[in-house]
Amino acid sequence: MDKIAVAKGDGIGPEIMDAVLGIFNAAKVPLEYEVVDMGKWVFDKGYSNGMTTEAKQTIEDLSILFKGPMETPKGKGVKSVNVTARKTWNTYANKREFQTLHGVDTVFSKAGIPIDITIVRENIEDTYGGIEHLLTHDVALGRRFITRPGSLQVIKYAFEMAKKKGARRITCGHKANIMKLTDGLFLEVFYEVAKEYPELKADDVIVDDLCMKLVTRPDLFDVVVLTNLQGDIVSDLCAGLVGGLGFAPSANIGDHISIFEAVHGTAPDIAGKNIANPTSLLLSGLAMLRHLGLMETSAIIENALLYTLESGIHTGDFGDKTIPSVNTTEFANAIIGNF
Ligand code: NAD
Repeated sequence: MDKIAVAKGDGIGPEIMDAVLGIFNAAKVPLEYEVVDMGKWVFDKGYSNGMTTEAKQTIEDLSILFKGPMETPKGKGVKSVNVTARKTWNTYANKREFQTLHGVDTVFSKAGIPIDITIVRENIEDTYGGIEHLLTHDVALGRRFITRPGSLQVIKYAFEMAKKKGARRITCGHKANIMKLTDGLFLEVFYEVAKEYPELKADDVIVDDLCMKLVTRPDLFDVVVLTNLQGDIVSDLCAGLVGGLGFAPSANIGDHISIFEAVHGTAPDIAGKNIANPTSLLLSGLAMLRHLGLMETSAIIENALLYTLESGIHTGDFGDKTIPSVNTTEFANAIIGNF
């Protein structure tokens, strides 16, 4: 049986992780879990990267980390635990899948327009290097770096993934008309890689136009690959198309280590109340099961989740307000009841 590392996270993290692992156990998912110490509370104990030495070693030994959201410590010069983890293990591709879910009403689901978009966001480079300088009291400078190898690895991943998904179209979102060298390099690599995949229709759209097209005709898009910051923004836009961040799974893929996590944060305003929606983490967990080749178990749980959503059962953050909401535990139990 495969073993994976689990970090429950901060805020609502432990509540939604316990709910998801409860669903996995009920579905007899053939995985063992090793819980590791990682998050803001570990940072507060003096570990500057937010994880203990043992946690880091375990994750490197097991290759897969399933993680709850983690709070970013406040203060200048302090780095996000999440960003540190992605950089430490070079999880260069952030894959987010956005699909229409029956029972989650959106303007598109009501209009009968189906959405099935995968965003692949470069996860390491760009402005996330955090290279910023205060030149004078009135002038701040930020640097952005894009490299050919960094672009190549994420774009290759996007094309391979698109091929496996059976996608018709792969689109590069960019602002190369203004950032001619940085986004220009990313776009150049995109079209170089496209030559190796003649079966896929490869095209590009300037990112502002892309945002407009995504909110007017999201059904025309299939796989979209972008640099880090633009990908961050566009993927939240896509989350909005399918009902919000609570329905957006996320996978950080690297060659050696991959991290699966919910897109949303620690929701401190509702932490400890057992009312959080575990769907985003559950969908991320299902992506992880598919990554591990556990297709059948993943499908059983996914069908139960879809049936639950379709029957109107919902946590307080979404759904038909005329139907009373359930709490996190009740939502998880409803899914288990629908296996
Ligand atoms: P957030 O996503 O935690 O919350 C935004 C709003 O969405 C809140 O009203 C919250 O109650 C609601 N919400 C989020 N997840 C929900 C869920 N599962 N069910 C129901 N409602 C939910 O964003 P924030 O408040 O900006 O960030 C809080 C902390 O989380 C910060 O420290 C931030 O850095 C961190 N964060 C971590 C990650 C991560 O671990 N990958 C991602 C984003 C933010």
